[in-house]
Amino acid sequence: FMAAKSHEGYEVYTPSFDDHSPRRLTLMSELRQAIEREQLHLYYQPKISLKSGQLYGAEALVRWHHPRHGFISPDEFIPMAERTRVIKHLTLWALKKTFRQCADWHNQGLSLIVSVNLSTRDLHDPELPDIIAGIAASTGINPGWMMLEITESSIMTDPERSLDIIQRLHEMGYQLSIDDFGTGYSSLAYLKKMPLTELKIDKSFVSDVLQSENDAVIVKATINLAHNLGLKVTAEGVESKQIFDLLNSYDCDIAQGYFFSKPISIDAFNLWMQNHAAA
Ligand code: C2E
Ligand code: CA
Ligand code: CA
Ligand code: CA
Repeated sequence: FMAAKSHEGYEVYTPSFDDHSPRRLTLMSELRQAIEREQLHLYYQPKISLKSGQLYGAEALVRWHHPRHGFISPDEFIPMAERTRVIKHLTLWALKKTFRQCADWHNQGLSLIVSVNLSTRDLHDPELPDIIAGIAASTGINPGWMMLEITESSIMTDPERSLDIIQRLHEMGYQLSIDDFGTGYSSLAYLKKMPLTELKIDKSFVSDVLQSENDAVIVKATINLAHNLGLKVTAEGVESKQIFDLLNSYDCDIAQGYFFSKPISIDAFNLWMQNHAAA
């Protein structure tokens, strides 16, 4: 299951990776166990409002420290889990955790918008809205506090089915974000029909925005497109003050990236918030 980076933001799997490899099957049954045994963790990465410089929210990202293989990147195990039912367990676990965390922060008077990633399978699962409603009821969150991130490519895998689920989640009050924008092929006709709140520009464009004239044009045009469709724009992969300033001049709304913080544990995040407020 080794992945090699051929270029920033692109993962290429070696030919030894195949669906039925014993290694993959073992890893997936171990992931299943790791979920049940609470061996997975959610890290949180701050999202900053560009204009005010204030903390806007946080994205939850799963972390797995495998007892033998050590740290395994979600870019490796999420796509594997997506081919099996394991993803449903992982999503359920992540939703419960993030909703509970969000309720905690709001009880402390911190009005953060908490983002959680959904996968392609989730978006085609007609049970998802009811499952989410159940978790919301048991944790006491307001759906408007949650941002559900769905990738451009998962919407486009089956646009009609996705639209139906997105519509239901929207009617329930959830904010919806289109993730990894620019890496798939979207039909603007579908994008216009989707009740989305946010568009996230993929980090592969953002990280080269200072060097590449093409990427700068794409980022600028995407921000304008999103604003014309009534969407807020988050740029991910913001690694420097220069990129932050450039995005601000492009009228981008929210920034996320190592310039502010990597994804960190809850304890580290709570500390980060104290320091950020004091700064
Ligand atoms: P994503 O949703 O696009 O998440 C953003 C990724 O960019 C994260 O990688 C984050 O750590 C990384 N990142 C953030 N800022 C920077 C930066 O300034 N520079 C660079 N180089 N990278 C930055 P991570 O945590 O490894 O996650 C990879 C992918 O795995 C995610 O991409 C998402 O597609 C998936 N994933 C992670 N957690 C979950 C989860 O709980 N559920 C699902 N379904 N997918 C998840
Ligand atoms: Ca995401
Ligand atoms: Ca993304
Ligand atoms: Ca990504």
